[in-house]
Amino acid sequence: MPSSAKISQKADLHTHTTASDGMLSPAELIDAAAAAQLRAIAVTDHDTTAGFAEAAARGAELGVEVIPAIEMSARADKGEVHILGYFVDPADPKLNAHVTFSKNMRLSRAYAILHKLDDHGHPLSIKSVLGRAGNSPIGRPHIAEAMVQQGVVSSYNDAFNRWIGDGRPAFVEKHNATPAEVIALIHRAGGVAVLAHPGPALSHDALYELAASGLDGIEVVHPRHRLSAQKHLRQLAQTFDLLTTGGSDFHGGRKENEALGDYVIAYKHVENLRARHERRLRELAAKRAGATTLA
Ligand code: AMP
Ligand code: ZN
Ligand code: FE
Ligand code: FE
Repeated sequence: MPSSAKISQKADLHTHTTASDGMLSPAELIDAAAAAQLRAIAVTDHDTTAGFAEAAARGAELGVEVIPAIEMSARADKGEVHILGYFVDPADPKLNAHVTFSKNMRLSRAYAILHKLDDHGHPLSIKSVLGRAGNSPIGRPHIAEAMVQQGVVSSYNDAFNRWIGDGRPAFVEKHNATPAEVIALIHRAGGVAVLAHPGPALSHDALYELAASGLDGIEVVHPRHRLSAQKHLRQLAQTFDLLTTGGSDFHGGRKENEALGDYVIAYKHVENLRARHERRLRELAAKRAGATTLA
């Protein structure tokens, strides 16, 4: 048997680090990925690629392939959808403009959430929230943690269930771009756009619209998807000729029973994503060449 057969073929394409709302630093995440014998991992922090460089450096040391990626929020009819961008260029100027916008927007939204909590008799210091987020875009997990620490709630889940979860009294929506805008941003940064955790109820019509906007794939394997949901999503992917991906949505043990390595996909899906990314780079180069010729 060739020695390459011994290489693990497992990949986890959905993870978070301290660069957004995860608990492990990018290097620690890669240590965990090596321990879980993953061949490849994508760092998909919310609205930032800031964790990639550190993760890639550690990955090079430990022999774990690290794919640059991002998880972006977009506004949908019913709340919010998340779109993963794989193989985006972390230095892309337009992507970084969006990252800066999101960071500012998340900060003012955090103030709005604290305002609502205050209105309900639970003053929370912004310092405690900022202290947790550090230089990362502020997410509700940072606020939930501060609420536990200051005794507003007894647990992290309680914070969401009682106050800041979707539709709860202190919930504030984010100002998000449309899915079409997010997909275009990912494409222009050379990336591959994949609908994150669509859930079991993803409809034909909703997916039709996203596919028409250039969506490349959907996430099939995810802790939120039971086997029946995975089957439904695989069938939809086939109908719309979309790529399929999967991962753990690991937040470093923030959520209950989180372990890296439990939600994985075969490495061939990484190869499919890379092929799409390479095609996109060729298309972008051709477009630029065309623009130069016209000028
Ligand atoms: P944000 O992007 O600030 O709206 O925060 C979204 C993050 O909050 C998700 O990625 C989850 O990590 C977490 N989250 C959202 N809803 C819940 C919930 N009901 N229970 C626990 N965590 C949640
Ligand atoms: Zn998160
Ligand atoms: Fe998400
Ligand atoms: Fe996520």
